[in-house]
Amino acid sequence: MAKLINKKASATKRVIVYGASFSGKSLLVGKLAEHFNLLWVDLEAGHGVLYQLPPAYQEKIEIVSLPDTRSYPIGIETMLKLVKGPVDICELHGKVNCMVCKRNDADVIHVDVNSMQPDTILVIDTLTQLSNSAISNITKGQPDDYKLNFDDYGNLGKLLDIVLSHIQQANYNVIVISHENEVVTEGKKTTLSPTGGTRNFSRNITKYFTDVVYLERKNKKHTCISTTTSSTSVIAGSQSGVALETLGEPSLLPLFRPDLAPMPEVPATTLGLGKKGTVKPQGTVAGQTSSILAGLKAKQALAKK
Ligand SMILES: [Zn+2]
Repeated sequence: MAKLINKKASATKRVIVYGASFSGKSLLVGKLAEHFNLLWVDLEAGHGVLYQLPPAYQEKIEIVSLPDTRSYPIGIETMLKLVKGPVDICELHGKVNCMVCKRNDADVIHVDVNSMQPDTILVIDTLTQLSNSAISNITKGQPDDYKLNFDDYGNLGKLLDIVLSHIQQANYNVIVISHENEVVTEGKKTTLSPTGGTRNFSRNITKYFTDVVYLERKNKKHTCISTTTSSTSVIAGSQSGVALETLGEPSLLPLFRPDLAPMPEVPATTLGLGKKGTVKPQGTVAGQTSSILAGLKAKQALAKK
């Protein structure tokens, strides 16, 4: 019998860090390289900011560049494969099993998320760009002013759900970086939530993560927020009850290595994380990927004719 008390709490974390542009999200995550290897999947060509880190930290960060654009939405295509198992990603195009690079014997990066050790964190920078990539994939071949219809939104939600539900089930450490998004919650109150997919999808995005951290920049000072009690207009939460806002200097270390950065705990009942259990089992979700993308491709091929 799998009694809760006998089940070991998961040692790995799945964290989403969000905030406005220039709120210092990438640097905050990059500082974890003091204690961890970071496998940094860069969809925004934004890793330049990491050169501000000490060289010893830079040594521990491996960059996987996915040069995602509207006309080359490689981000979602590669991420759908990366979250499932071992892949070889070419450095030039960010593509899995790239035939061009294979022919030219060009450099590839081997990534196997399922064999990642607890001293490594997979960083996805950013979920915002991953959503854009999914939209670009769905609307391939459409004019620039094309408006997404009901089916398109449905497909967007499905693609993001496949990536995020794999992350939800992951036994390795993950940090997803995202931007902030205003959502209206019950009582018509405006709240900030992480951006990802539609507003409706964004509102429920916290269910995939163990910790939701908002990074705020006020009066030139950065503060992490990880409990809902600290601010009523921000979605944040921590399953392990870590209140990052009590820190003088913003840091994510207490989430991953509480032994190195102990801090006072808050009761777990104050957490603002979404309901669990609404995500489909992994098996069915995994099977959908190829069919959705294949369906899209078939549609696009038809549209071209
Ligand atoms: Zn290539």
